[in-house]
Amino acid sequence: AKQSGRATYRIFEAQMDAELQERKALEYDLRQAVLKDELEVHYQPLIDLVQHDVAAVEALVRWRHPVRGLVSPADFIPLAEETGLIISMGEWILETACRQVMEWDGLRVAVNLSPVQFRNRELVETVREVLVRTGLDPSRLELEITESVLINDSSAALEILNGLKGLGVKIAMDDFGTGYSSLGYLNSFPFDKIKIDKSFIGDMSSKDKSGAIVKSVISLGQSLNMTTTAEGVETPEQAAFLAQEGCDQLQGFYFSRPVTAPELSAFIARWSSGKKT
Ligand code: C2E
Ligand code: CA
Ligand code: CA
Ligand code: CA
Repeated sequence: AKQSGRATYRIFEAQMDAELQERKALEYDLRQAVLKDELEVHYQPLIDLVQHDVAAVEALVRWRHPVRGLVSPADFIPLAEETGLIISMGEWILETACRQVMEWDGLRVAVNLSPVQFRNRELVETVREVLVRTGLDPSRLELEITESVLINDSSAALEILNGLKGLGVKIAMDDFGTGYSSLGYLNSFPFDKIKIDKSFIGDMSSKDKSGAIVKSVISLGQSLNMTTTAEGVETPEQAAFLAQEGCDQLQGFYFSRPVTAPELSAFIARWSSGKKT
């Protein structure tokens, strides 16, 4: 038994080694990616249901790896966060997105902030500098944060949020409903917008409860004077339900996947000429 235990351990060790190697390789590649310009920002439209136009875009980072192909953020953001690379990467994403949106008349841009960026004391100053460098009107920038940034040190978080608000940018609570105490946070922090997580939208047709939750989040947003956006809208039925309930903005594959900047320009042109796709 002892013998086989040791053998198992050796296999385990070899496996750990392999995983560590893979991680190191990915980390090395990720550092190179930043230097070699392999990161891209893609854009997904947010459709305003009242104006019936493209109100904003969400900036979503992509990594065009020479061998692995297009790598999704879920596969490299965590590593970027662990290594601290997210700080410089996040600033690059923010600046790229702000510059890009200047080309799209009046559109706003929503940029995701990692909790790691949020814990960085320079954040407010970084955002201010990017706005100055790009010349983007601050009211056209929305920063999306998840409630996880509020959990540990909420007084520090409040100070940062107020600093960001002071710049004139908008703050959205992302992934609403997936955390622990979203409601309390809405009360204590200066959010302008609620993004209903796509898990609720996706479940609406199969679970009555999800529809009820979505409905009440929309009316909550209305009574708190916050904009509501539904994420992950994939079908005309979902879009119709959300419109009927008074949701302000819709985002999802039903309208468009996240696409490159030129593709988004084409989408806007098609949209304003009256065709949905
Ligand atoms: P998120 O902020 O919740 O972004 C929405 C995700 O839902 C995106 O995935 C988007 O492509 C996807 N999505 C949009 N519409 C639909 C739909 O109709 N159906 C389905 N199934 N999915 C839809 P993506 O681009 O893979 O990003 C995943 C997550 O990675 C994001 O979730 C965000 O947390 C993070 N992320 C992406 N870009 C950035 C970034 O630039 N900075 C940071 N810090 N995080 C980012
Ligand atoms: Ca987001
Ligand atoms: Ca989400
Ligand atoms: Ca998220």
